[in-house]
Amino acid sequence: MTRPLYLKLESELSRLRSCDNLRTLPEARFGYGDVTLPSGEKSLNLSSNDYLAIATDKELEAGFLSSLTDRDEPLMSAASSRLLTGESTAYRMLEALLSRLYGGRAAIVFSSGYHLNSGVLPAICDRDTLILSDKLVHASIIDGIRLSDATHKRFRHNDYDHLEKLLAEYASLFGSVVIVTESIFSMDGDRADLARLVELRRRYANVLLYIDEAHGVGVCGPGGLGVAEEEGLSGEIDMLVGTMGKALGSAGAYLICDDTVKQYLVNRARPFVFTTGLPPVTLMWSRFVMERLGGMTDRRERLAAVSARLRDGLAAIGCPTPSQSHIVPVIAGSCARSVELAGKLRQSGFYLLPIRPPTVPEGMARIRISLTAAVTEHQCDRLLEAIEDNL
Ligand code: PMP
Repeated sequence: MTRPLYLKLESELSRLRSCDNLRTLPEARFGYGDVTLPSGEKSLNLSSNDYLAIATDKELEAGFLSSLTDRDEPLMSAASSRLLTGESTAYRMLEALLSRLYGGRAAIVFSSGYHLNSGVLPAICDRDTLILSDKLVHASIIDGIRLSDATHKRFRHNDYDHLEKLLAEYASLFGSVVIVTESIFSMDGDRADLARLVELRRRYANVLLYIDEAHGVGVCGPGGLGVAEEEGLSGEIDMLVGTMGKALGSAGAYLICDDTVKQYLVNRARPFVFTTGLPPVTLMWSRFVMERLGGMTDRRERLAAVSARLRDGLAAIGCPTPSQSHIVPVIAGSCARSVELAGKLRQSGFYLLPIRPPTVPEGMARIRISLTAAVTEHQCDRLLEAIEDNL
């Protein structure tokens, strides 16, 4: 380990360690809803994105596995890019279902939300495009913006007056403007005002909306299709992103868009073209879940109820949270404080991890409580007590 590059890496790791910001892979074992710690103790998993408790639903899993009969396509691997021989009936059927659910618009499936967000914007945005993004968008969107040739400006988080000013000043200078935001923010759990965004889109003929519903799909809307569905606005969002590795308990991501955009991405989105397709078994599981999503209203209601209970409970113990959803952060401030609080809550039986920069801004390290439909009122109340004891 004496080569200059290795020495540089070692020194950066030491720096991260010294400011409580070193990440290491967890040693815990993640089971069906609970987590087994290295000590053998079990705790409640409040750090997954399995919002509807689908990934941990043994019955649903068994139902799917027993449906895998009469196969005439390999199940476990696509073995090449979709543009070669990785295309499968499973892809076609999943995209057809998504298209039907979203009112006949085109749907294109990517291998993950990261692939999608880092691939779509660079493919469709050129030098004559302006991207206006919310300051708190996810790293995968930031990477997509960085890889694109577009001019980029950020608006303050959920500050639509600021966005409106930027539009008034710059929209006419570019052929196209793409407004990029999330419907439910991954780390703050607050919501974008989609109606206001749609209203801005109507005022400018060259403005498009790109909305990442990674944390809205499954959870919001009468059919579980996201915040846009809940607000009756899906048809006015040019590009709507859904991910399948969170509430849907699977893997992959989809974009709902115009057919021209889909055809263009098949040609130009590098993370679509230059990667192996998803295993058919994953796509079939995604379809199995999507087909049942509309019928999961009870899970959505349970999740909404326990989320409101936690948010109200935090307010009652004087612990403010920006959350308006099932993602409920408790802001600790420094990295050291977030590490300490997460450790204490794990000791109390709640599997929570510190979220630190660069995932969140400096000085805003936190515990991100990620609720699921399987969390009971009693568990929620015990968690509140543990937070109050350790604040
Ligand atoms: N978008 C948002 C808003 C996210 O929070 C995430 C994952 N945390 C992604 C995209 C990436 O999705 P995936 O995990 O499928 O790569």
